[in-house]
Amino acid sequence: MTNQQKITDSPIDFAEKIINDVKNSKEDGVLKCVQCGMCTSTCPAARHSDYNPREIIERVLEGDISIIEDDNIWNCFYCYTCHSVCPVGNSVCEVNQILKQIAIENNVGYDKLYEYLGFADSYFTAAIGAIPERFFQDIDRDVPGWWEFRQNLEEIRKELDLNPPLMPSEEVIDEVSKILTITGFKQKIEKIRATEEAVK
Ligand code: SF4
Ligand code: SF4
Repeated sequence: MTNQQKITDSPIDFAEKIINDVKNSKEDGVLKCVQCGMCTSTCPAARHSDYNPREIIERVLEGDISIIEDDNIWNCFYCYTCHSVCPVGNSVCEVNQILKQIAIENNVGYDKLYEYLGFADSYFTAAIGAIPERFFQDIDRDVPGWWEFRQNLEEIRKELDLNPPLMPSEEVIDEVSKILTITGFKQKIEKIRATEEAVK
C-alpha cells in the first residue's frame, strides 16, 4: 500500500491503513470496538456538535472512505477522553488524527487549517508553537483581561522576581527551520496558504 490513500482506493485497504498507521498506538483496538458508545457519551465535541466518535469507528470498519470528506471529523480536538475510557483499548482520538492526515494528503479540509497557519509559522520564527494572532481577540473575549496580562507579562514577571522565559536560541531556530524545510513541512504549509489566498 502506498503512503497516500486515494479516495478511490479499496474500502478494505482503507480500514487496514488506519489500523496499521504508526499514529495508531492501540494496535488492533479498532477491530475490538464493540460499539458501546462510551466514547460518544464522554466526548466534549459530541456534546456540542453532530460529531459521533462511535460512528467514526463504525464507518472506518465499514471501509467508508467518504468519512475523510465529512466536516465532523474536524470537530475532534484531541482531548484523549475517548482514548482513556474505551473498554477495549481503542483510541478514536488517534484514528481521527489519521483520518485528517489522509484528508490533507487528498487535498481535503484545507479550509479547516487556515486558522492554524500562524501556529505553523511560529516554528520558523521561534522554534516553538505559539498562539496564532487571529485567536487573540477570541481569547480576550473568553478570558477577560488576558490581552492586558499578555501585554504586561514582562513587568509582571519582574515584579514576581521571575527570570525571563527561556526561549530557543537563534541557532536552534535556524536548525528547526532547516528540518521543517527539508522534511517538506514548509512546502505543505505554503500549498495550504496558497489555497487560502485563492479563496480571498
Ligand atoms: S468506547 Fe471504544 S468500544 Fe466503545 S464505541 Fe467507542 S471505540 Fe468502540
Ligand atoms: S479526542 Fe476527539 S473524539 Fe476523543 S473525546 Fe476528545 S474530542 Fe471526542
